[in-house]
This record gives sequence, structure tokens and C-alpha cells, in this order.
Amino acid sequence: MRTIDVILPLAIADTYTYSVPDAMSCPEAGMRVLVPLARKTITGLVYRIRTENSDEFVAKNIQIRDIIEVLDEKPIVLPSQLELWRWIADYYLCTIGEVMAAALPARLLDNEYTARTEVYISLHPRFTDIEQLQPVFDSLHRAPKQLRLLEYFLELSDVFEGTPHLVEQRQLIEYSGESTAVLRTLIEKNILCATHEVVSRIPSYEADIEPAHPLTEQQLRAVEAVRAGFAENKVCLLHGVTSSGKTEVYIHLIEQQLSMGKQVLYLVPEIALTTQLTDRLKKVFGRQLGVYHSRFSDMERVEIYKDLLENPEPKVILSARSGVFLPFRNLGLVIVDEEHDSSFKQQDPAPRYHARSVAVVMAMAAKANVLLGTATPSVESYYNAGTGKYHLVEMPERYAGLHLPHITMVDLKQQYHRKEMYEHFADPLVDKIREQLTEGKQIIIFQNRRGYAPYIGCRKCGYVPKCCNCDVSLTYHKRTNTLVCHYCGYTTTASANCPSCGGEWRDYGVGTEKIEDEVIGLFPEARVARMDLDTTRNKNSHQRIINAFARHEVDILIGTQMVTKGLHFNDVSLVAVLNADSMMQSPDFRSSERAFQMLEQVAGRAGRTGKQGEVVIQSFQPDNALYAYLQNHDYAAFYASQLKERKTFRFPPFYRLIVLTLKHRDYSRLDTAARCLSEQLRKVFGNRCSDVIIPPVARVQNLHIRTIRLRIEANASFAQAKSIVMQYVRYVQSLPNCKGTIIQPDVDPM
Ligand code: ADP
Ligand code: ZN
Repeated sequence: MRTIDVILPLAIADTYTYSVPDAMSCPEAGMRVLVPLARKTITGLVYRIRTENSDEFVAKNIQIRDIIEVLDEKPIVLPSQLELWRWIADYYLCTIGEVMAAALPARLLDNEYTARTEVYISLHPRFTDIEQLQPVFDSLHRAPKQLRLLEYFLELSDVFEGTPHLVEQRQLIEYSGESTAVLRTLIEKNILCATHEVVSRIPSYEADIEPAHPLTEQQLRAVEAVRAGFAENKVCLLHGVTSSGKTEVYIHLIEQQLSMGKQVLYLVPEIALTTQLTDRLKKVFGRQLGVYHSRFSDMERVEIYKDLLENPEPKVILSARSGVFLPFRNLGLVIVDEEHDSSFKQQDPAPRYHARSVAVVMAMAAKANVLLGTATPSVESYYNAGTGKYHLVEMPERYAGLHLPHITMVDLKQQYHRKEMYEHFADPLVDKIREQLTEGKQIIIFQNRRGYAPYIGCRKCGYVPKCCNCDVSLTYHKRTNTLVCHYCGYTTTASANCPSCGGEWRDYGVGTEKIEDEVIGLFPEARVARMDLDTTRNKNSHQRIINAFARHEVDILIGTQMVTKGLHFNDVSLVAVLNADSMMQSPDFRSSERAFQMLEQVAGRAGRTGKQGEVVIQSFQPDNALYAYLQNHDYAAFYASQLKERKTFRFPPFYRLIVLTLKHRDYSRLDTAARCLSEQLRKVFGNRCSDVIIPPVARVQNLHIRTIRLRIEANASFAQAKSIVMQYVRYVQSLPNCKGTIIQPDVDPM
């Protein structure tokens, strides 16, 4: 009996064994197969052909079922990808099926991909010159619609001119305004012809190619240093201040790879926010650039996937984290831009992978290089550079001799005390904004909270509307007059008064909508735009806002962290941060690091051309050391302070973390499971394992939540620790009084 192990996109078991009927030729690893599962049929992917005999199944009296059909003639997943999936599943504690579900575009797995065809219209080949059309024109005398359509066709196609164009049916119909029925008549009369052709959904970039900019001296030195690091087979960390021209360094290194016939993966945190980068890369790389976009339709994703699978040609693929799942045959370099960004880590669902770590593993297997770039390295990466594991390359100067922005702190305590505030704007900030507006400059205002007010409460009875599915108050959105849960999306119309006593509402806290209202009140002459999750739900809305701001059709841009990322605007002279403290108040050990990164990044948007930019940070604790590091743009000092804390409080990079999240509808079962798991693990791991932790939001979507945190010394065997943890996870899940508890391991949580 020939048996194979098949991956199914499920979280239950890792692989499933099937037999191949004698009449069928044996599929190869990486091919899709149709298999029976219980009473259903499901598509799976061949993981491996089993070489061991199947006695164990016979002995255990397990019946192996036959596969139904082999769906591919050639593998759609490369052996290198299967190896990477294996690594991800083992490292991040999930099944290889869960990795597959994340890795393959859904339609590729389900075999629902269809090529797109376009109908092209041409002149019937019996006509070879314009003269021959005369009788046709005469005959169409009484059919003005047909005549008009034919004339439009001739105009679009230039058929008897030097270079005739292909005319799409859609284009012809649109242009002429005539119906397809009219067109059909012309085709029936053998005047025009229609042909179907397969076309790509991937937009092709045929715009003019421009050579890359010549590098500055600093950039040239960086390129050399990176190459030296690569020569030693080390991961390079490029630490370049904002606007030092890291992109130009990447472009240069990419060109070198392409000219050697290699492929490059260029990872960015969020593609939607990088239209400027995409445009820049298009100009330099033209058709050699592919963009793998989560907002693309799944069909478009399949086309990029298939293109890479079938063509090992030199290419650069710009992608968010899921680009690590593409089938590179000829990878030379992986760039992880903004390597510190937490969106490289997938939170939900599994696999909870970090694309930076996966990139390193994937590149190692392909003998390719890895370049991490950022203005604000993650503590982990900078630590690796310090120990010599990574090769550090620095660019401390901005391009064109610009200065890093000047940062001013405003003490909110003092401002409120002296009543020198207009709503959430301190007087000195108002003055500065007004000054910049008068000079025709642009301003970015950063407020890391969307909606109008994080919550509202009744003035009389104190009632606060809460989500019915989650233990969290609802955020008030004024534009839509709704109360919205930012955890589960639950939305309800805001009632005019308190439903419990009829009292009036009062709002607490401040989100981007309220700031927008205040800005309009303060600067009625300014043109204002807001960029947050709510204003960017449509496919091109990011781009529209960014373009409008770049063209200076907007004076003040208000936004959440979206405005901090990688954008480049010529006229922005001032960046304001309305309440910086809130970012540091979360109990997470990374909150200071995140605050520093976000503030340095948003500050970096100011003064990218011409005069030195200015940043105003409002804070209730302006003496916090973090602000001093920021004012001096002193990353190294900031890092040193963080590292000390990390060591004292036993966090990465000195310890590796695993967080177990337990969820259950039934509170008492959850409680039992969490206590039991923590107790068991503490017996093995001692104080490396925490007690049961109640998270700040302890119920989401009607599931109660508890967490348990483990810290494992960096030099201990992580694999062994994980395997012990999983044994206890399975044990607890098997206990009758814990039944139904979901336990989600998160390795290296962010
Ligand atoms: P970073 O990614 O380090 O913040 P960018 O790569 O976006 O910086 O560069 C900042 C600005 O400086 C961009 O407008 C870029 O076009 C310009 N720039 C950087 N290096 C060069 C160069 N060598 N020649 C021309 N322009 C450059
Ligand atoms: Zn909710």
C-alpha cells in the first residue's frame, strides 16, 4: 500500500495519512489532493510520501482511506516552502495546516482560481486596406449606430496606420456609448471580429523607468558596510535616522541582486501606507517590481504566487508580512524595512509568527542575505548587533545635511493649572500652528485614539454604555452617532440621553474626531483631513488622503499611528503630539519602546526638506527620561535604559516569552483550567511561570480570557521548554472539568 501524509487546513492534527489507490499515479509532495474527511471531501496538500510501511496502522486497526483525486500535475508548493512551514509550526506551536491556511491564497488551495480573459475586437481579416471598407460604410447608411461604432473602432485601433492598437471590447463600448448588441451585429456581418485572450490581473508598470539616484557618501559607505556584513553571512541591521535615505540604500542593493539574476523580498509593515514607496520603486524597477497586497483580491494574489512559482526570473516583491510565504526559487536578499514595527507579528489567528524571524530562517535556508532597516531598532535587534550576531551599519545624518527635528515639551499640568489651554491644545502649540499656517506650511497632529471619545457616561447616574460581548466601554463616534466596540466591532446607535435615568451624556477622553472638531474651531481657515481606521476603510482611501496632503490641498492632517509611518511630505514643518503619556501607560513591558519608536517616527515626518522641522509634545510628565532621549535623538541612551530594565525584570532579549491565552464561554471552567495549568507548569518551571493573569479586557466576544506567562532563559533549550508546555496544555484540555477551553500559545509575543 502506498501511503502519503497530507496537510489539511485545520488546527486539530498536524498531518493526516491516506493511501493512494493502485490505479492512480502517486502525487508528489506539494501537490493538492482531494481527500475524504469524515463524511466530507476536502482539499489538502501532500506533505510527504511515506516510506515506512503501514504495519503500525494495521496493528492499531486504523483504517486508512484512499485519496479521491490528485489535483495538480506539478507541485504548487516548493520543498523549501514545506520546510519553512514545518519550522513555523514547530517554533510557533501550531499545526502545519494552520500555517498552510495562512500561506496559500484561499483560492489557490480551493482550486477556484480562474484566469481572467478579455475580449478584444479587431477588423475582419478580409479587409486589408481602407478602400475596401467603402462598401461597408455605404451599406451601414441606414444603421447609424453600427456606423458610429465602426468609426469609433477605427479611431481607437488605428488599424490602417503605422501601429494598430488592440481594442478591448469594454473600452470600445464605453468610448462609443453603444450597446454590445450593436457590436454583435457588426461581428455577425463579418465586419468586426472578437477574440478572447487571457490577461493578467496584476497591474503592469510601464511608466518611464528612471535611474536610481546617485548615492551620497554616507549612503555609499553604508552599502559597502552592508556588503561586508553579508560577506560574513551575517544579518545586517541598518540603523539610519529618519530621512537618511535608507530607501536609496535598499534600491542600490536590490539593483545589485537583480543584476546577478536574483530575487528580492522587500517587507514593509503595511502596504496600504506605502503608496509613496511603491511609486518610487515602480519608477526604478518597472516590471521587475511585484506588489503582494492584502487589499488585492485573492485572484490577484494567486497570479503573483503562480508567476513566482513558474518563473525564477529576477524580481523584487514588495509585501507585508505574508510575503514570506511566496514561492521564491532564486532568493538573494530579504529586506525588512521598519524592522521594529509590531505589525510584522501576526496576532490572530495562528500561526502567530514574526515575519522578521521567519525572514531570517527563510533566507538562511536559501543562502540569501537579510537586511533589517529602521531609525528606531527593536531592543532585540540592537542587542543582537551588540553581541556581534548581527552586523550593525549606521547612518546618523539626514539626507542633504538637514537637521533632525527640534523637539519642544509642553507641560500640560502647568498649562491646565494656568488655564492656558484651548480644549486639548496648549496655548504655545496653538501659536506655533498658527505661525506655520501663516507661512504656508503643513502640520501633522498625532492622536493615537480614533473615534470622538473613548467612552461616555451619564452626568446624573454615572451609567457607562458597555459592549454586550466584551468587558469594555463603547467608544463614541460622533460622525455616525454610534457607540462602537473597538474589540469586537459591535455597533449601536447612540441614544440622545441615558437609557437608565434620562440624564445627559458627558464624554470622557479624546479621539481623533474630537481633535478634528477642535482644530476646525481653532483654525477655521485651515483645510483639515483626518486619517484613521474610520476614514480609510475603502480600497483607495489611504492613497487619496496621502495624495491630497502631498499636493498641499490639506493644511492640517490629524491621525493615529497611520501618520507615523514612512511618509514623506515636503511642506510639513510641524508635528504635534497631543498626549504622549497615554502611550507609555499600558502595562506591557514594551510600552516605552513603542512610545519611543512612535514618537521618533512621527517626529521624523517634520522638516524633510528645507528648514529644520519642529515637534511639540504635550505631556503631564515632561520630565520622564524618555522625552530627554527623544529630544537628543539619542537612541543608544534610550536603548541602554531599556536593556537594563529588561534584565532586571527578566524580559527579552535575556528571556524568551511564551504567553498562553485561555478562553472559554463558561467562566468557571476557564478559571479551573487556568489555575490547573498554572499550578502544573509552576511545578516544572518554578517562578518562570506566572500565576493566572487577568487581562485588562477580560472578556471579548463573549469569551472569558485569562493568560499565563512563561519566561525561559535565553540560553536554555527553548524547544524542550515548549514541548513540556504543550504536554501540559493538552493534559489540561483533556480534563473533564476544563472541557472546551481554548488555549492559544503565543511564542515571542509582541
Ligand atoms: P528614510 O527611509 O531613511 O527615512 P528616505 O529614503 O525616504 O529616508 O529618503 C528621504 C528623502 O531624501 C527622500 O525624499 C529621498 O528621495 C531623498 N534622498 C535620499 N537619498 C537621496 C539621494 N542619494 N539622492 C537624491 N535624493 C535622496
Ligand atoms: Zn465588543
